[in-house]
Amino acid sequence: MKLSDDLKYTDQLLQLTKDFSNRFLSVADKLAPHKANHSLPTVTLPQAGMGGAATLEKFRQLYGDQLTAATGPRYWGFVTGGVTPAALMGDWITSALDLNGSSSGTVATCIEEDTIQQLRSLFDIPTEFLGAFVSGATMANFTGLAIGRQWLGNQLGVDIAADGMSALQHVKILSSVPHSSILKSMSMLGLGRNSLVRIPALPNRESVDLQALEAYLQEHPDQPFIYVANAGTVNTVDFDDIAAIAALKEKYNFWLHVDAAFGGFAACSEEHKHLLQGWEQADSITVDAHKWLNVPYDSAMVFNRHPKLQVSVFQNPGAAYLGDPLQEFHYNNYIPENSRRLRALPAWFSLQAYGREGYRYIVENNVNLARKLGALIASDARLKLLAPVRMCVACFTLDVPSETQADAVSGFLTALNNSGVVYMTKTQYQGQPAIRAALVNWRTTEKDIQLVWDTIQQLLTRK
Ligand SMILES: *Cc1c(COP(=O)(O)O)cnc(C)c1O
Repeated sequence: MKLSDDLKYTDQLLQLTKDFSNRFLSVADKLAPHKANHSLPTVTLPQAGMGGAATLEKFRQLYGDQLTAATGPRYWGFVTGGVTPAALMGDWITSALDLNGSSSGTVATCIEEDTIQQLRSLFDIPTEFLGAFVSGATMANFTGLAIGRQWLGNQLGVDIAADGMSALQHVKILSSVPHSSILKSMSMLGLGRNSLVRIPALPNRESVDLQALEAYLQEHPDQPFIYVANAGTVNTVDFDDIAAIAALKEKYNFWLHVDAAFGGFAACSEEHKHLLQGWEQADSITVDAHKWLNVPYDSAMVFNRHPKLQVSVFQNPGAAYLGDPLQEFHYNNYIPENSRRLRALPAWFSLQAYGREGYRYIVENNVNLARKLGALIASDARLKLLAPVRMCVACFTLDVPSETQADAVSGFLTALNNSGVVYMTKTQYQGQPAIRAALVNWRTTEKDIQLVWDTIQQLLTRK
């Protein structure tokens, strides 16, 4: 039986796994960050299995040449970071331990609470915020909006968790430039995507026009709202004026959710932390961990200051074996997931290994490199930088006539991504097809900027 053999040889299997991982990581700065895999083989379920060692060999043969360095220094797509060495250690140990991160009074819960406490300190979030790990910023946004929805119901005299959505037909969710996951969450929560009211942004910005927001609130005096503030938009890393919005809470009745998926890391840098001023007055906050914290997928945190509302949404009522949600603290009464891995541990390792200064370095290094890239783009007449580099994203396009721009940008981006040097993603900014380079990986250096710039130059000259 292969299973009992594998138990006997666990040590060797882990050694093989370590060697494989190490070999991969040692060439991650040379491997292509992205490949379009259109014709990979499919495998079928074997009758008798082959054991761990042969399976690793098969994996290597089938996929070895196809693996991409999304964890490497020049994966600049979306806004996802890599994995610090200590985060990898924590992640491996998480799987070895296989602890359920939900049950109270266990070492797992202590580690999660500890990690949340360190993160509150890193981000300067007050201790009255209860924090929990979820699988990504989408789930953190979902959780924040779910608690906000419960609050909206309370304002209207309805317990939505118990009685459902029927009384909430006409509620509106306000935001200026929300991430797509906000709309996805609204759909999943039965609020409906069409309940979003887009408040205009300031001219040439992705930051809400406060006068327009206040005008809307004034026109609807008796209605409660959820306002989703942006702390770091994906195209231009723009921030709403969160302090000014929080001040509006004194006059108007709304739930303030801050989507700071990667912008929350502004807190790590003296130069940028002012961008988050006022977020300590939010009701709920999203921060992603598989972005700028550089831990492996999938990991994010939701912070919320209304634990009673949170329990009324996420409790497991009547499941005696899960304990009384109001008497004992179990994470599974506060978030969408019940059973889950000890997702906090990779973050715990990385925070302990590199500390406040390590994260300041990662953030400031990425910002400096993004600025360098932005300056190079701005210096080339064939390219157009579409917004100042506010933190970690350079958003640009080709300076060509608008009739040909869509095709030109798409052809250029495909060629750039097929070069094997870098991976960037496309976007649309102020009506123009555009390209984003998002730098949030701890491994990226000036050499990478130069290498990518040389590649861009070759492609521009070749055309
Ligand atoms: C990435 C991102 C999300 C979604 O995060 P996932 O981790 O992919 O679920 C939400 N909001 C913002 C601002 C983001 O950048």
